[in-house]
Amino acid sequence: MRLAAGSLARSCGARDMKTVSTRLMPSPSVVIHERRTRWLNVLFNGRADGRLNTGHAGVLLAERRGSYPLIDLRILKTSAQQGEVESGTRRKIKRLLSFQRYCHASRLLRGLVPHTPGSLHLLDDDYLGQAAHMLSKVGTWNFDIFLFDRLTNGNSLVTLMCHLFNVYGLIHHFQLDMVKLHRFLGMVQQDYHSQNPYHNAVHAADVTQAMYCYLKEPKLAEQLTPLDVFLGLMAAAAHDVDHPGVNQPFLIKTRHHLASLYQNTSVLESHHWRSTVGMLRESGLLSHLPADMSQDMEQQLGSLILATDISRQNEFLLTFRDHLDNQDLDLQLASHRHFILQIALKCADVCNPCRVWELSRQWSERVCEEFYRQGDLERKFDLEISPLCNKQADSVPAIQIGFISYIVEPLFEEWHRFTKPSLLSQTMLDHLHKNKVCWSRLRCTHTPSDVHSDTEENTAEGGDGEGEDIP
Ligand SMILES: [Zn+2]
Repeated sequence: MRLAAGSLARSCGARDMKTVSTRLMPSPSVVIHERRTRWLNVLFNGRADGRLNTGHAGVLLAERRGSYPLIDLRILKTSAQQGEVESGTRRKIKRLLSFQRYCHASRLLRGLVPHTPGSLHLLDDDYLGQAAHMLSKVGTWNFDIFLFDRLTNGNSLVTLMCHLFNVYGLIHHFQLDMVKLHRFLGMVQQDYHSQNPYHNAVHAADVTQAMYCYLKEPKLAEQLTPLDVFLGLMAAAAHDVDHPGVNQPFLIKTRHHLASLYQNTSVLESHHWRSTVGMLRESGLLSHLPADMSQDMEQQLGSLILATDISRQNEFLLTFRDHLDNQDLDLQLASHRHFILQIALKCADVCNPCRVWELSRQWSERVCEEFYRQGDLERKFDLEISPLCNKQADSVPAIQIGFISYIVEPLFEEWHRFTKPSLLSQTMLDHLHKNKVCWSRLRCTHTPSDVHSDTEENTAEGGDGEGEDIP
């Protein structure tokens, strides 16, 4: 069965979303753009001058399953205790357990959490009760997705999506089949790689929760149609599906087949989108809709997911800024709402530094751990170590300060301008500035290996994010 998604993704593989957004040339007079571009080049093209490193043979790659030859997980796992590849039997057992966990969790979604007085008090019921309580506050910015994932036994993405679909009445509106919906969401969640420190299903759930917060912004909420909400949530949930835990330059220099399939352009994002389309068709979730409607939904999903390609950051930022300067955004127009959904998804994808320190710090350490694993892999196979991936040279604070200064801050300043007056946007900017100060202090005083222990102290003395008013 799973082969079908891959085959579909490959057969539909041509990259055809170039019509979506007009590319703009950055203004040469603005120095900060040059700095940001250079930083983007370092991070995503592998060199400060934007040229790609190629030349080493693709000896690292092996097929993960079916039609998706991905990175050999035996190579990606660096620690001894994680270094074992799942056997076929173990994978089957894991799937079975996952299904059982899912059935259990689905009782929560139907409101069937048992609380009979005097009955045997099961720990799982306790967890589900707490998860249900958390869902009642899913629209608050200090929502702890790590805790929610533990309480739902690793089913945060499926549980969150089902809840939000219920909140918005999307199941009724689009006459969705619940079995197909669960099948689709289960496939998406399972196709995230749980061994990735950062690009896993918890990141997808986190982005979805942030997206929900943005969709609730009064400026936007009044104008959105059910289709906009459906696409926004679906794109957030699936935007990194099947991410291999390495970046595009790595795929290009190791001559991965996805790089050639997508012609070295938005390779990962194209794969996330085509995989999503494959799973949509395999699950039959939209099969009851008219063909032109389901095709339009697939295309719009692609446009949203492709917007998360961080190498297109300047293009989107400048277009957004122009619209705000000219005050010409008309959210009655579907095309303008779509553009704002693209921006909202981009914000949700990079919003980690805008979270309270304790959550933000965890995400920072996770993403750097993923970079360092790629660097270790490159070192092991005598490839040039990519920028930001050398754990001996690139500290977590230095990486975070660059990321905040050149990617996150400029985007969220414009988002603040768009949503004004917005308590949430102000809260996010406040966290962003505090977190940047924290990383600056850490960079000045400590070595990379000290970061984890010292951030704990920092939290205790600074108290960033603890007990603050959250919208
Ligand atoms: Zn992402």
